[in-house]
Amino acid sequence: MLKIAYSDVFRYAVPEKHRFPMQKYIMIPERLLDEGTITSDNFFAPKRLSEAEILTTHTEEYWHKLKTQTLTRKEARAIGFEMTEVLVERGRYIAHATYECALYAKKYGVAMNVAGGTHHAFADHGEGFCVFNDVCIASNLLLMRDEAKKILVIDLDVHQGNGNASIMANEPRVFVFSMHGTKNYPFRKPPSDLDIGLENGTGDAEYLRVLQETLPLLIAQVNPDMIFYQSAVDVLATDKLGKLGLTQAGCKARDEYVMQTAKAADIPVAIVMGGGYSEDVEDVVEAHCNTFRAAQEIYFNKVRPYALEGQD
Ligand SMILES: [Zn+2]
Repeated sequence: MLKIAYSDVFRYAVPEKHRFPMQKYIMIPERLLDEGTITSDNFFAPKRLSEAEILTTHTEEYWHKLKTQTLTRKEARAIGFEMTEVLVERGRYIAHATYECALYAKKYGVAMNVAGGTHHAFADHGEGFCVFNDVCIASNLLLMRDEAKKILVIDLDVHQGNGNASIMANEPRVFVFSMHGTKNYPFRKPPSDLDIGLENGTGDAEYLRVLQETLPLLIAQVNPDMIFYQSAVDVLATDKLGKLGLTQAGCKARDEYVMQTAKAADIPVAIVMGGGYSEDVEDVVEAHCNTFRAAQEIYFNKVRPYALEGQD
């Protein structure tokens, strides 16, 4: 079955006008439940990262500052949320959830985190709404525990995964692929194993063409036994920060293509959500929900419209 990591702690209270649409963490599960894409049985409550697990990836100094709430103002501003103990706790659950998703993906083919994809977190600092780097922590745990030997990160967030690139620069067992807007944050992009920078305004056809040209070759070349897929929806034309031009249908086709390709190659996929900053939060929620719908369709033959049980 489709295992989905979710916890109330994922939702963090932010000021109403904050750029990060926290309400999506309530709206996504609610919508999926209401429409029958999932039931409450699909959810699992993730555990929390231990300090030792954090230190597989982050520096002692950074962790100490987080633990003691002693980041400088500048360091906190780079992250973009008010720094509190709750925010740090939240990050610990989200990152462990991504690791647990990888383990479930090995069992069921796919598993999804309602949060995660915090790819702007570096070993020694956070930025761009990212405190801990969940995919890198999860990768390091999998490798350390011999639960994966070769990992492919497919990062399709519109922003380059600078934290992933930096943390995994000297880790040959993790191949980081990032396809993003070339003229967008982060403006200094440490090299991933493969970076594809797209021009502003790139639309569905061109985007999907590049992805289809790249992904099968990449999977053949890397030969991974685990994939992390960052399925951010800030590639939408409606996104305030994105600058690309994908439609909802294009974004869904992207997700379907990644899952179909991974499934055909029989490689487990752990999916993390990443960003989405459309003016109307509806656009963000709908696009994220499409990723869950696609997983149910492709892996579990659960196709919409869903029959409502107990109704004629
Ligand atoms: Zn992003």
